[in-house]
Amino acid sequence: MNSETSALPPPPAFDSRLPHVGTTIFSAISALAARHQAVNLGQGFPDFDCDAHLLEAVNTAMRQGLNQYAPMPGASALRQAIAAKIETLYGRAYSADTEITVTAGATQAILTALLCCVKAGDEVIVLEPCYDSYAPGIHLAGGRAVAVPLTPGSFRPDFDLLAAAISARTRALILNTPHNPSGTVWTAAEMRQLQEILAPTRILLISDEVYEHMVYAPARHESAARYPLLAARAFIVSSFGKTCHVTGWKIGYVTAPAALTAELRKVHQFNVFSVNTPMQHALAQYMADPAPYLQLPAFYAARRDLFRAGLARTRFRPLPCEGTYFQTVSIADLNVPERALPEADFCQWLTREIGVAAIPLSAFYGNGFDQGLIRFCFAKKDETLAQAIARLERL
Ligand code: PMP
Ligand code: GLN
Repeated sequence: MNSETSALPPPPAFDSRLPHVGTTIFSAISALAARHQAVNLGQGFPDFDCDAHLLEAVNTAMRQGLNQYAPMPGASALRQAIAAKIETLYGRAYSADTEITVTAGATQAILTALLCCVKAGDEVIVLEPCYDSYAPGIHLAGGRAVAVPLTPGSFRPDFDLLAAAISARTRALILNTPHNPSGTVWTAAEMRQLQEILAPTRILLISDEVYEHMVYAPARHESAARYPLLAARAFIVSSFGKTCHVTGWKIGYVTAPAALTAELRKVHQFNVFSVNTPMQHALAQYMADPAPYLQLPAFYAARRDLFRAGLARTRFRPLPCEGTYFQTVSIADLNVPERALPEADFCQWLTREIGVAAIPLSAFYGNGFDQGLIRFCFAKKDETLAQAIARLERL
């Protein structure tokens, strides 16, 4: 079989849809970490398990025979649970029937939103640094990503730059709060300013809120759902992977006004049709109790504080972390010549030689902007964080 496969002639040549894209930084660093038995604080995922009740609920759903296709927009029970949560937390009532769609994670949700509204020649504004799927998604839809930098150092939005980036071709803007990788959380004043800028335009908003339940006091999650003139034009995206410690389940959702949802579902029904049935039922049941997601900020604030206390014993300089499970640090004060390397090379060296994997912030910029910052994920057990800190103290 193998020898027959290797004897095949090369496939017919064609122009790549994504000629400049390789393996994502997250896969690359995770593979390197595994090869060198490094503590993997790179790719964002917990190293602890989810609530056993959630696993039991999946098991029950499977045994109840909930194993065939779910309805295309998602299991009704789950859409109703999502609607109830959003109304309670953010004060906006979305119709489970016409305004909520369950997706195979946030990555699919964002790509589907882009594919349904972006055409050749359209521009989509992204605020850099940003999650690495945005620009390729825009490109696959035929559009062009227009990058507006968040202010270096603080990562706050610069509304003059944002307003200046808007053109007659701007079709959409992608917002991400709480923000990966910087850990900043947009304030109410910033959301209002965005609302003012977008209100007179025809620009749609894709609001990536996958870390909505990881916001640390005194910050509060400012969902686009809270702002009528944003909600009216927004696809709001979230992910159960983050909220329920199950990144491998790849289940998320999009809420959007009925007219936008109708267009989203036209694409959704042909790129996934529907999403894993028993897990949707399990999540619906699990969400009936709000305690797990309401307790998430306290749970992750404790991990953040533990990790930052450890970092205080190292020469890594942590930036503020208002939300997400990421901690960005400066490498400028390290006592090793490698601190002068580009961030990406430094992260490879750190993984290989020191045994701790991290993600370079340059990976979140289209032009590879390098500012001596790297990102650690602190969604890890105490002993994992302690082991990482012990290694980082050596620098
Ligand atoms: N958006 C952001 C900002 C993320 O950090 C992630 C993380 N994986 C995603 C989207 C994708 O989420 P999912 O795993 O549900 O596709
Ligand atoms: N969102 C995760 C992170 O930022 C990674 C997801 C992925 O591997 N694509 O680490």
